[in-house]
Amino acid sequence: MKKGEWRFDTKAVHGGNRPEEYLGASQVPVFQAAAHRYGTAEELNEIFAGKKPAYIYQRMHNPTSRVLEQRIAELEGGKKALVFSSGMAAISNVLLALTRAGDELVCGNSLFMTTYIFLARVLPRYGVTVRMAETDDPANFADLINERTRLIYLETIGNPRMDVPDLPAICKLAHKQGAPVAVDNTLATPYLLRPIAAGADIVIHSTTKFFNGHGSAVGGAAVDAGKFNWNSRRFPDFADAVKRAGRLAFSDKLWREYLIVLGGFQAPWHSYLTLLGLETLGLRMARHVENAAKLAQFLEAHPKVKWVNYPGLDSSPYHRMAKKLFGGKGYGGLLTFGLKNQAQCFKLIRSLRLCYQLANLGDAKTLVIHPYSTQYVSFPEPERQQLGIKPEMIRVSVGIEAGEDILEDFEQALKRI
Ligand SMILES: *Cc1c(COP(=O)(O)O)cnc(C)c1O
Repeated sequence: MKKGEWRFDTKAVHGGNRPEEYLGASQVPVFQAAAHRYGTAEELNEIFAGKKPAYIYQRMHNPTSRVLEQRIAELEGGKKALVFSSGMAAISNVLLALTRAGDELVCGNSLFMTTYIFLARVLPRYGVTVRMAETDDPANFADLINERTRLIYLETIGNPRMDVPDLPAICKLAHKQGAPVAVDNTLATPYLLRPIAAGADIVIHSTTKFFNGHGSAVGGAAVDAGKFNWNSRRFPDFADAVKRAGRLAFSDKLWREYLIVLGGFQAPWHSYLTLLGLETLGLRMARHVENAAKLAQFLEAHPKVKWVNYPGLDSSPYHRMAKKLFGGKGYGGLLTFGLKNQAQCFKLIRSLRLCYQLANLGDAKTLVIHPYSTQYVSFPEPERQQLGIKPEMIRVSVGIEAGEDILEDFEQALKRI
C-alpha cells in the first residue's frame, strides 16, 4: 500500500514521519535550534533564493514542526499545512492574509469567543467589512456575498452553540460566486469530518484541543486544500504567489507575508507534544464521542436538567445534518446543558469530584466551565445572546475516562444542587 492511501489511524501514527532522516529514531526528535548552519556562501545564497530547499531559521520552519504540518495535511486530505503558535495565530493570520481595506468577509454568527472578537472588533478597524450570517440556512451566506467578498468563514461545529452548518451547500454557493471558504474544524476534527472533501478551501485547527489531546501544548494549524483558483479579478494581490505556487498560492502567501512576518510559528517542542497526541486521535475520538453521547442521554433524562444541547441527540435541531456530515462516526466530545439558574451551575461545579473546571476542551480529562461568568464575563448581553451564552448554561468537554465514572460524578453532583 502506498503512503497516500493509508487509512486515518495509520496516517495519525505515521504521517510525515521520516526516521531515515533522523538516525532511525521512531519519534521525531525535537530540533531545538533557532537556526541551521551552512558551510559555503554559495549554498546559503541558493537556499535564500529558494533554489534549494533547506531549513534557515525557526520563525520560518523547523524539521519537527514540518512533520506535524505534513501529518495534519494528510489527515485533512489537504496539499499543505502550516503550524502556528496557537489556534488564534492560525485564525488571525489566515484572515489577515485574505482581507485588505475595502474588502468584505462573510462569517457564520456562531463563533469561538476570541475569533468573534477578532472578526467583530479588530478586523473592522483595518477597513474590512465583516458580515455575519445565521448559520442555519446556507442561503443566508449566499445573500451576503458580493464581488468584494474575499472569504466565507465558519466553524464546522460551532463553539459553544453546537450548531452544524450545511458545509457542502455553503461551499457550493460560495464557489458559484467566486469566493473561497475557510472553516475552523477544531471541534469535529478530521475523525468526524474532512471539510476539504465537503468543498472547503482552507481548514483551520486549534491543535491545543483534540489534536494534542492532553492539554500539554497550545498550537494551531492552517491547511490549504490546493484547489481554489486564486488567479482571478477578486485576488489581484495574489498574482506573484500564483506565479510561484499555482494552486498553492494561498499557503505560499500565508507563509511568506504573514506567518514569517507576524512571527507566530509553532515551536518544535510544542509540535513534538502534538505529534505524540495525534498518534491516538482516532482512538481518543471514538471514546470522546461514546462518552459524550452517554452523558448527553443521562443529562437529558435527569429531572434537574432543563435542556441538553448535543448534535447526537434527536432533540438537537442539528442532528440530521450532523448524521449526514459525520457519517455515523459520532457527534463530537462537547456538549452544553442548562440548569435552573447560575447559582445551581456554581453549586454543581463545586460538587463535581472527577471533572476539572478549566478553560480548555478536547482534553483526555472531562472539563467543565460556566462560560457566562468566565470567558464571556465582560461581553455585552446582546452579544452573549447571539453567541448562545446563557447564565444557566454549563459546557462540558467530555473526556476519555471510564464513561460510568463520568456519569456517576454528574449524578452525585446533581444530587447536591
Ligand atoms: C480553542 C479554540 C480556538 C483558539 O485556539 P487557541 O489554540 O486557544 O488559540 C479556535 N477555535 C475553536 C473552535 C476553539 O475551540
